[in-house]
Amino acid sequence: MTVTETHCPYCALQCGIRLTPEIPRVRLEPAEFPVNRGGLCAKGWTAAELLDHRDRLLTPLVRKDAGDRTSPLREATWEEALDRIVTAIRAGQERYGPDSVGAFGGGGLTNEKAYTLGKFVRVALRSASIDYNGRFCMSSAATAANRALGVDRGLPFPLEDVAQARTVLLVGANPADAMPPSMQYLDAGRAEGARHIVVDPRLTATAKGAYRHLQPLPGTDLALANGLLHIAIREALIDEEYIRDRTTGFDAVRTAVNSYWPERVERMTGVPEAHLRETVRLLAAERPSMILTARGAEQHSNGTDTAQAYLNLALALGLVGRPYSGYGTITGQGNGQGGREHGQKADQLPGYRRLDDPAARAHVAKVWGIDPAELPLPGRSAYEMLDRLGTDGGVRVLLVLASNIAVSAPHANHVIDRLRALDLLVVSDIFLSETAALADVVLPTAQWAEEEGTMTNLEGRVIRRRSALPPPPEVRTDLRFLKDLAERLGRGDFFSDEPREVFDELRRASAGGIADYAGITYERIEAEQGVFWPCPAEDHPGTPRLFADGFPTPDGRARFVRVEHRDPHEVPDKLFPYVLTTGRTMQQYQSGNQTRRVAALTVSMPEPRVELHPDLARRHGIADSDMVELRSRRGRAFFRARLNAGIRPDTVFAPFHWGGDNAVNALTDPALDRHSKMPAFKACAVAISRTEEEGTR
Ligand code: SF4
Repeated sequence: MTVTETHCPYCALQCGIRLTPEIPRVRLEPAEFPVNRGGLCAKGWTAAELLDHRDRLLTPLVRKDAGDRTSPLREATWEEALDRIVTAIRAGQERYGPDSVGAFGGGGLTNEKAYTLGKFVRVALRSASIDYNGRFCMSSAATAANRALGVDRGLPFPLEDVAQARTVLLVGANPADAMPPSMQYLDAGRAEGARHIVVDPRLTATAKGAYRHLQPLPGTDLALANGLLHIAIREALIDEEYIRDRTTGFDAVRTAVNSYWPERVERMTGVPEAHLRETVRLLAAERPSMILTARGAEQHSNGTDTAQAYLNLALALGLVGRPYSGYGTITGQGNGQGGREHGQKADQLPGYRRLDDPAARAHVAKVWGIDPAELPLPGRSAYEMLDRLGTDGGVRVLLVLASNIAVSAPHANHVIDRLRALDLLVVSDIFLSETAALADVVLPTAQWAEEEGTMTNLEGRVIRRRSALPPPPEVRTDLRFLKDLAERLGRGDFFSDEPREVFDELRRASAGGIADYAGITYERIEAEQGVFWPCPAEDHPGTPRLFADGFPTPDGRARFVRVEHRDPHEVPDKLFPYVLTTGRTMQQYQSGNQTRRVAALTVSMPEPRVELHPDLARRHGIADSDMVELRSRRGRAFFRARLNAGIRPDTVFAPFHWGGDNAVNALTDPALDRHSKMPAFKACAVAISRTEEEGTR
């Protein structure tokens, strides 16, 4: 019996699991990996059901009549599928130029695949058109951390440090539902008397176990942070010595928060002044303390500035770089961290290098064996690219890997229309997702337990994904598919489909960059249960904790940045009087393309529910389990009601794991953060009504 130690295919915790061959499929058990320590959530426990699922894509599919998307999909050989793709790429680039062919990647791709996809677009397609779904996930916190600290590693310390913190401020984070095994660290802290304050418009499972729940109006988290800093300054709780010795720019921030007096912040956010004062006093006095943000605070049209406001607070209190203290953001997708480091972003080269930096271009071009002048310049961000699909100057042929944008993009119905306007849509996936169902060519790809590679978890720990069984005969890895395609485009020599070879090249390409993997090898990962980047040499121990001795900024200091509250792009009015916010459930992952097919998960939650306060429901004659229609300026969606006295009466919540008539992203606002290009997923204006209609499901 060969036992394979690998990791759960879903979220950024990347829990360790053990797979043992068994009839009819592998047996899956939790492993004693340092992150999950034997824990798994329901998604992880049931992940093996995907491996031989009846919906699995086992051969390429193409439209029966090429060019006619109304004709049905039929099975095809790889030769035929690749020929159709190459023909469309050549025709598109000849007619519209190189940038008319692009790719959309995902935060679930291994480091090797994300790296290869970025290289494929720049070297084989010579196109600037690439971005990925992490733009919809981590980009605001990443932009703020780069601005303030000079580096974006979600948690700059191991998760186990959370257990040692006496005070933890969790802003827009619900790990009890999103990644339950991580709660063991919060629970251990609470058992020792730590006090946790959860900021969320809903009384979530995480908030229920906390010492204090602050319940602001969605879109006011920045005002809350500035208000906390205002109190810290007034009550002489800031760390003047730390500010003087380790930071720059505080005076402008001190001036900016002057007007965020507690009574005003209470009016803006709805959080009582007494709770504001208590929060900042705990953070300052009950140390060590931490501030952790997640998508609730970050997925706004001012998400970067909001994350920045919490960084300002953490820096002013002197938390960052001190033991068991600091600021972190909780990454969501499985390889959300590694996926944003190695070149599938529109403006980025491997190692977290900038595509517009001449030295970075020269370094990476040398590793790739091309002239730096061949590298395109930065392209458009995710939504900007999707918004222009099929238009003059936009992408005409799109490859989509590991992303279900028809469900997960904002203003989803518009995005679906744009996908339909493409000359050719190619989707590589394991199941026929809502996006794959729109495609001209669908490619079956290997699953998590059928491939080798590395992932980088939410702590910046690089880990191994190992193969326990071969993919089905006609299924190829994405590395193989990209190499096959590159060969047909005359650039096959630049690509490998061997994960270890790709990783070794990635190490060279990242060497000297911010996310430096040069010293990380498959063998070291195995021997050390993961290696934390930066790790510039094979004799370097890796870096579990950042910032103890300084910051990777030009002057070694962290930077305060003045930020001001702005109302969300869309605020309630007479026609759309409530705020819609979106999020996760414990049973589902991302667009649900995988987890909605797992029987044990759908049994416990067969359909999405919209959460409404009982007072709001009463006003609209809605009872628990009634069917409700939500409408925004962009579309409508249907949900069964769940009455919840723990949500603000002016706010409704719906999960984003479903498509079709249950697609909450048919409603969400694509207004973009000006720094990160993050859409405003977490606050838009909606109307609600009871309905007999159940949509067209
Ligand atoms: Fe998988 Fe995340 Fe659940 Fe762990 S917490 S089992 S990584 S989904």
